Amino acid sequence: MTTVELPLLPLGKGKDLSSERGVECPGDLPPASDPDLVARAKAAKEALGRSVFVLGHHYQRDEVIQFADVTGDSFKLARDAAARPEAEYIVFCGVHFMAESADILTAPNQKVILPDLAAGCSMADMARLSQVEDAWDALADAGVQDQVVPITYMNSTADIKAFCGKNGGAVCTSSNADVALEWAFAQKPDAKVLFFPDQHLGRNTAVLKLGFSLDDCVVWNPFKPNGGLTDEQLRDAKMILWKGHCSVHGKFSPEVVDELRAKDPDINILVHPECKHEVVIKADLVGSTEFIIKTIEAAPAGSSWAIGTELNLVKRLADAHPDKKIAFLDRTVCFCSTMNRIDLPHLVWALESLVEGNEVNVIDVEAETARLADIALQRMLDLPGKSHKD
Ligand code: SF4
Repeated sequence: MTTVELPLLPLGKGKDLSSERGVECPGDLPPASDPDLVARAKAAKEALGRSVFVLGHHYQRDEVIQFADVTGDSFKLARDAAARPEAEYIVFCGVHFMAESADILTAPNQKVILPDLAAGCSMADMARLSQVEDAWDALADAGVQDQVVPITYMNSTADIKAFCGKNGGAVCTSSNADVALEWAFAQKPDAKVLFFPDQHLGRNTAVLKLGFSLDDCVVWNPFKPNGGLTDEQLRDAKMILWKGHCSVHGKFSPEVVDELRAKDPDINILVHPECKHEVVIKADLVGSTEFIIKTIEAAPAGSSWAIGTELNLVKRLADAHPDKKIAFLDRTVCFCSTMNRIDLPHLVWALESLVEGNEVNVIDVEAETARLADIALQRMLDLPGKSHKD
């Protein structure tokens, strides 16, 4: 693979200050008001036939999901793409780290396209490789690095996955984080886990699934010297949690759970493990997006639910199950803003560019990074038992 340096800039920052999206679309983006967008997307997809495969993450907008050949979580989508080798182009309607994972897991001839390069993930961006390498050095200085197994959530950049591959660690999803942690603790005597980027998934899994106490967990703040921790704290900790979180799932609060229960004692609270620990311990059920979907599908008619995950998915579940009472677990509307950057104009632009023979926004992970990240992904695939859906 060749290395392509793609800009991934925060909104309104970097080279492109005038762009509303931070990264200017390098072509003629159709206006969102174009009444022919649906017809144009349909025609472009038909013209491309089996050479294109469109992936739609569960958190994507309806206007985009309608064109997805398959929907799912990030890991399922990457595997679905790898199972379609005849598709030369994988158009990933999701965020940047997902497109990277798809590029790593698909064949070299398959090109992964992200319709809007500004579709990043704030959580993945909270763990930068240079910060993680500094933390690793600090763990050596504290005399504990030899005990530490690094585990990264799927929602991380390719170079963080590669760091784990290089240093004896693995990737996990929200479905198999417990198995990944058990694996990690079995790797070394007196093992500790350095878990990134989502402190909540790490804490919830360690405490609720593996039986650790909250005191066994410390939080590494990459903006403080030595992570804001003493060497003694590092020596005593079992879980060293990176100070990262999801901007969507981090918004849910225990107060709203209490309010909803007071209004409807029969309500079931169903949340994603990226939610804060205070929320998760008040919930009836906790699980990945796939678990949330399956739980609602299996729920009896008339049952009442409040769901703590991304709003596009909750709205689609409510629309698909009018016989059940389904509410969003927050007072305010809260979409994932970066997921929402993939809209119909960008999808039309990406597909029509391919029809014209122009490969746009190709995500191409540098070869050595891809090799090492694949090692960490394969260690996850080799974990016993569970499915690997996030
Ligand atoms: S929902 Fe959270 S973890 Fe998922 S892409 Fe958005 S910010 Fe990242």
